[in-house]
Amino acid sequence: MKKITIAIDGFSSTGKSTLAKQLAKQLEYVYVDTGAMYRAVAFFAMQNKLIAADSFNKKALIEALPNIQLEFKFNPNLGFAEMFLNGENVETQIRTIEVSNYVSRVAEVSEVRSKLVEQQQEMGKNKAIVMDGRDIGTVVFPDAELKIFMTASAETRAQRRFDELQQKGDTVSYEDVLKNVVERDYIDTHREDSPLVIADDAIEIDNSYLTREEQFAAVLELVNEVVKTA
Ligand code: C5P
Repeated sequence: MKKITIAIDGFSSTGKSTLAKQLAKQLEYVYVDTGAMYRAVAFFAMQNKLIAADSFNKKALIEALPNIQLEFKFNPNLGFAEMFLNGENVETQIRTIEVSNYVSRVAEVSEVRSKLVEQQQEMGKNKAIVMDGRDIGTVVFPDAELKIFMTASAETRAQRRFDELQQKGDTVSYEDVLKNVVERDYIDTHREDSPLVIADDAIEIDNSYLTREEQFAAVLELVNEVVKTA
């Protein structure tokens, strides 16, 4: 069967990674969560006191970029790859609300984006990949054979993220999660470099009222159609 590139973009907490993981497993493709890469850079900036609520030393972060080594390592027990920052597994640390609060400001920096985009393009050069993010269909793989753009209302997305964080024992409030979702939407859609926009040839899926199973079945059908004609 012909191998293709699948780009999944969309707003935060639209279930992009759940769908991407399901697809990768079914098709035996590689899955890459590009949000994890931006989160790891944000975590590095936090650890090194380059970013805080009221300050951001962009220059120092740009200078430190050559010292940031990102790597995905597949964990067979979990069935997906975990994010390593300079050799350390940071999969848990990058999912906190603190990192969510800083990541979009870090992702605005062009030098950060070009470093990560280059790495992402390298990972996908042999196709057979499902990559999710904000700029995959527009910037990273503009020639991807299948582009999906996912949306859902901010309240639905905040509720999903809130449930996830609660399950992990994070004592954050729903209001704070909603605020973070709305703020990230704003920064991601308004930044100068690679703003979150729907690619002309992307297929939009609003999953506010779709179950995971319904969504997966619909996208799998799209994949089969594209593979037939690719
Ligand atoms: O996908 P996730 O919500 O984990 O992404 C975290 C943040 O990383 C996004 O809000 C966005 O600011 C940034 N990001 C990006 N480009 C990508 C993936 C994520 O700017 N391709």
